[in-house]
Amino acid sequence: MSDARVRHFEVLAFRCDADGIVEHVVADDLVLDHKLAAGESMLAIVDPLSHDKARQFLRTIVSRGAASGWELTVMTGGRPFAATFTGAKQGDALFIIVGRSARDITDVVETLEHINNEQLNAFRGAFRDQREAFERRMRSDALAYEELTRVNNELSNAQRELARQSNELVRLNEEKNRFLGMAAHDLRNPLHVIAGYAELLAQDGDADPEKMRMYEEIAAASRFMLELINDLLDVSRIEARKHHVDVSSFDAVAVLRQKINAYLSFAKAKAIEVDVTGDSSIAMTSDADKLRQIVGNLVGNAIKYSNPATTIEISIREHAEALHLEVKDQGIGIAADQLDRIFEPFVRLVDSGTAGERSTGLGLSIVAQIVAAIGGTIRVESEVGVGSTFRVVLPLSC
Ligand code: ADP
Repeated sequence: MSDARVRHFEVLAFRCDADGIVEHVVADDLVLDHKLAAGESMLAIVDPLSHDKARQFLRTIVSRGAASGWELTVMTGGRPFAATFTGAKQGDALFIIVGRSARDITDVVETLEHINNEQLNAFRGAFRDQREAFERRMRSDALAYEELTRVNNELSNAQRELARQSNELVRLNEEKNRFLGMAAHDLRNPLHVIAGYAELLAQDGDADPEKMRMYEEIAAASRFMLELINDLLDVSRIEARKHHVDVSSFDAVAVLRQKINAYLSFAKAKAIEVDVTGDSSIAMTSDADKLRQIVGNLVGNAIKYSNPATTIEISIREHAEALHLEVKDQGIGIAADQLDRIFEPFVRLVDSGTAGERSTGLGLSIVAQIVAAIGGTIRVESEVGVGSTFRVVLPLSC
């Protein structure tokens, strides 16, 4: 073997005995902190923590004739480095090559293949094994790389298709909102006419009772349809993000109490008591209409989903620059696994209220959106058969 060829590969090559005592350093091109010399143990270049492994390496060469690709820690530039050790048995002696990587050693072995030296024959066989293992690994790495590239391309295509479908969905949703808004708007006027005339006819004292009942039913049904249409208009406005916030300064307690009072007759009809407690006035700069809509929906639901002879407790308080509104009922309650869903549009957990009141499944989704629009939060706690508590926190100025 010529020194010049080995030097090119930056390896350390030496002959040693079965205990690792160096007899002759053949090539010394690997820059290690300790320079290995004849008469020294091979362990001199190995980090003490790797000594056991190094001894195991020597034993393996002795028992099997060769050991390849062992990683042992050596010190270079004051730092530990995992060098690759490969060795083969030559008669009583061991021949060991240390390189930075398995690749370095494979290159050396490839070079050895071209050197016609009897002494190196045993050595070649041992290293050929290592080169084959290395090539096998390279082949499987190449296959894995090809597979990764294929999967990556598929992912990019899927991502492009998703983006296309998502754009299409946005467009269709906008179209649906425009249609919903137009239809609801156009239906509102004729319904007002029907509800108005039905109410007028129902007030006619001379009509026969059967007809009066029919007029009242027409009036009630058209009022419900008007409510539904107003909700649908809200939903389409919210989805089109056109929810206008109309800011003014007002007393939140007065606004809330006035709206709550409008519901007292419904509560009374079901023998439900409504208790309002809290601060006597709270100055707020926000959207008063939205505040009315929030409390109207929550109190309306509390009455709708409560049984007679129960109490609804409403608390209105100011705390930490925010209005805290709490509506607590002793009604039918909501199952824990349904709590998150009730804020989604068109979700109804029951077909109607406890007295057969109609429901659209839109109210709470609108409430959640307008609470967010004026910078607040809404939370609910509930237990089936015990009751529900809705808590709204709104900043005093939005
Ligand atoms: P609606 O009351 O018109 O159905 P909401 O969006 O206001 O629509 O409410 C959604 C659903 O949540 C209701 O259908 C009802 O099942 C449930 N829910 C709302 N409020 C209460 C409450 N206070 N107690 C029990 N269930 C309620």
